[in-house]
Amino acid sequence: MMSENKPQLIDRYGRQVTYVRMSITDRCDFRCVYCMDEEMTFMPREQLLTLEEVTFLIRAFCELGVEKVRITGGEPLVRRNVDWLFEQLGKLKQSTSLKELNITTNGSQLVKYAKGMKAEGVDRINISLDSLKPEKFKALTRTGELSSVLAGIQAAKQAGFEKIKLNAVIMKGRNDDEIIDLAQFAVDQGLDISYIEEMPLGQVSHDREESYCSSDEVLAELKTAFTLEESDANTGGPSRYYTVAGSQSKIGFISPHSHNFCESCNRVRVTTEGRLLLCLGQEHSVDLRAIIRGYPNDIERLKTAIIDSMQIKPKGHDFNLKEQAVIFRHMSVTGG
Ligand code: SAM
Ligand code: SF4
Repeated sequence: MMSENKPQLIDRYGRQVTYVRMSITDRCDFRCVYCMDEEMTFMPREQLLTLEEVTFLIRAFCELGVEKVRITGGEPLVRRNVDWLFEQLGKLKQSTSLKELNITTNGSQLVKYAKGMKAEGVDRINISLDSLKPEKFKALTRTGELSSVLAGIQAAKQAGFEKIKLNAVIMKGRNDDEIIDLAQFAVDQGLDISYIEEMPLGQVSHDREESYCSSDEVLAELKTAFTLEESDANTGGPSRYYTVAGSQSKIGFISPHSHNFCESCNRVRVTTEGRLLLCLGQEHSVDLRAIIRGYPNDIERLKTAIIDSMQIKPKGHDFNLKEQAVIFRHMSVTGG
């Protein structure tokens, strides 16, 4: 087909969408305090896209010029048959514009899956790690065990993943005393680390305005212990990067509040139930599941809907910590 694999996803502001983040489950074995409530009601299974539907959808995107796909959740590795999905998506690198297949995980299942993921074509893994102290880790994740995540990190390294990145959400009074220790751990392990500002997504049980810790505060703290050099590494996303002198590690900052990144936005998200979200901080969306289920196997119709959606991609987001949970979706549904 003539148009296949050519970049066709360009919005009204001239931004080209080359990156899709796909949430494959809203469920999780952890209940991180910034992400979920202690009691969560998850979606009925029939509302979730099947893994066949996810594969079909990702193929459509990758035939429209998408080069990078990140599988996320909830916890993607608690989805049954997730290894089948990786195998299918890995194959798209041969037939479409897909270049990078990545995953974000809490790490708890990596001992089981890391080796297979490498064989199936997963390129990069991001692993969330907010504390190196077992009790504090438990308090932040409510149900998580630090030891399973540390073992998962080792499993990913042994499987041969090179670009492993840690993600840490820093919260005042909870883990802001570990900013330096987390970076030191990354340096010692030869990993990169990104610090993420807490975002007001979904109702949680603490006051986000009180726990909010800006990237500038984290950076200032890090500068007391490391020599950081600004890096020009750019993912086209909301991150700023620094290299740590004398190491291979990069330190990144994902700062949706303090540093606006919308003008270079190259990404869209697909929720667990197949809703295409054009912006993390806005509600503009298209129900792709309705198209997939209404017109099974009609990939051209699906692609047209995706191309048309570019007309409603908003110019930018407007997070506001003072209005608690302005966006009612939890990050676990949206896909972080
Ligand atoms: N379960 C996986 C994990 O934890 O890495 C993948 C999904 S999780 C929603 C993706 C990322 O979003 C994690 O790094 C997590 O720390 C981050 N996250 C979740 N809720 C957030 C929030 N309200 N603000 C900022 N980051 C958040
Ligand atoms: Fe689960 Fe990830 Fe959300 Fe934590 S951040 S509750 S691990 S989905």
